[in-house]
Amino acid sequence: MSGVVDVADVIVIGAGVQGASLAFHLACRGAKVVVVERSTVAAGATGRSSGLVRMHYDLPAEALLAWASFPWFREWPERVGGDCGFVRTGFLWIEPADMADRLRANVATQQGLGIETSFVEAGEIRRLAPVLAVGDGDVAAYEPYSGYADPAATAGGFLRAARDRGARLVQGAEVTAIRVAGGAVTGVETTRGAFAAPVVVDAAGAWAARVARLVELDIPVQVWRHDTAFLGAPPEVPVPFPVVIDNGNELYFRPEGSRLVLVGLEDANEIGGSPDRDTADAASGFADQVVDRIVRRVPGLANGTFRSAHSGQDGITPDQRPILGPAGPAGFFLDCGHSGTGFKTAPAVGLGMSELILDGAATSVDLVPFALERFAAGRLLEGEHGYRAIWR
Ligand SMILES: Cc1cc2nc3c(=O)[nH]c(=O)nc-3n(C[C@H](O)[C@H](O)[C@H](O)COP(=O)(O)OP(=O)(O)OC[C@H]3O[C@@H](n4cnc5c(N)ncnc54)[C@H](O)[C@@H]3O)c2cc1C
Repeated sequence: MSGVVDVADVIVIGAGVQGASLAFHLACRGAKVVVVERSTVAAGATGRSSGLVRMHYDLPAEALLAWASFPWFREWPERVGGDCGFVRTGFLWIEPADMADRLRANVATQQGLGIETSFVEAGEIRRLAPVLAVGDGDVAAYEPYSGYADPAATAGGFLRAARDRGARLVQGAEVTAIRVAGGAVTGVETTRGAFAAPVVVDAAGAWAARVARLVELDIPVQVWRHDTAFLGAPPEVPVPFPVVIDNGNELYFRPEGSRLVLVGLEDANEIGGSPDRDTADAASGFADQVVDRIVRRVPGLANGTFRSAHSGQDGITPDQRPILGPAGPAGFFLDCGHSGTGFKTAPAVGLGMSELILDGAATSVDLVPFALERFAAGRLLEGEHGYRAIWR
């Protein structure tokens, strides 16, 4: 390969939390890794992520990715080093009465997988989170050990630990071509030179479909745009309180430090458009929508203050689950389509992908359900007791 800057075992495209986790796990196994990043670490979805760490999914395979990741957040200093900002607050997934049977079934499945979760009714929700307005029919899944973490610190921490083990991070290097010879990848061309490797991983978040097209592969990953807001909490809303996903009201929220509340909405998330759009501002009208919605569940926030709002973009797939595994030419792998929920799963996905790449199969977690082939085969992933798709 002409003009090659470096030769590696694996090139990871993208230094978000997914690429960072994969680089860490590969480096722990002694593989030589180069991470190429068009901008800076956590410049994409990761830097905007709300950082919720919870296990409740209606798909057991996805709950297991979150559950296998959880020890990494809880034991970050011993496993990775430094601080990923994990804060245990407890987590409530609240549903209205008509979803109680589904919720109960999903909690039972998760308990069967070993996940620490329980089904709770209105009185217990009120006891766990007195700041919430709770209807008598409301039910919830409660995870006492869950909470939130700092996504940029998580990605940065994984990359620091990967570099300590020999990985190379090249920032400001946009991949413009992927070289293929004899049906197999041989490396990438970037704005900072060419890198050679027999394995190339697309961990490019909202840009993943554009990167896949460099090997003439079409993947069903679109850009998903999601706004979030920070509110100042008044004295009548003591912080912290549990992280909450409130499906009936189509919102989620969590404490941020000791004075702020971070809020996101499940609806009004634009799908499509360019991954290159600026994310500095939320959509017009978003602030009013957030305030209207959250005071239904946290009435005390009517006396709060609006601080700021911005947007973020991730790649989303038709079933809102990730695409993980080989695709296209030999040596090309996908770790993308995380659909607005791929922060909490990154530690285990990176470990599983490293096993898939180095050993030919993931053994610590099951990645088979997340193969690209499911879309062509019409096997979209759905939970047996599914809720409606979370993002609209
Ligand atoms: C606002 C928001 C809130 C969220 N909240 C949560 C949450 O609470 N919990 C949760 O689990 N998940 C959440 N998510 C989802 C989660 O943050 C993402 O799924 C996750 O961060 C994706 O990580 P990634 O590494 O795949 O992508 P990214 O972080 O987007 O990283 C991809 C990287 O690839 C780089 N790149 C792209 N093209 C190229 C190229 N050609 N060459 C080189 N580099 C390239 C980009 O610059 C970028 O840095 C949220 C997402 C958003 C946007």
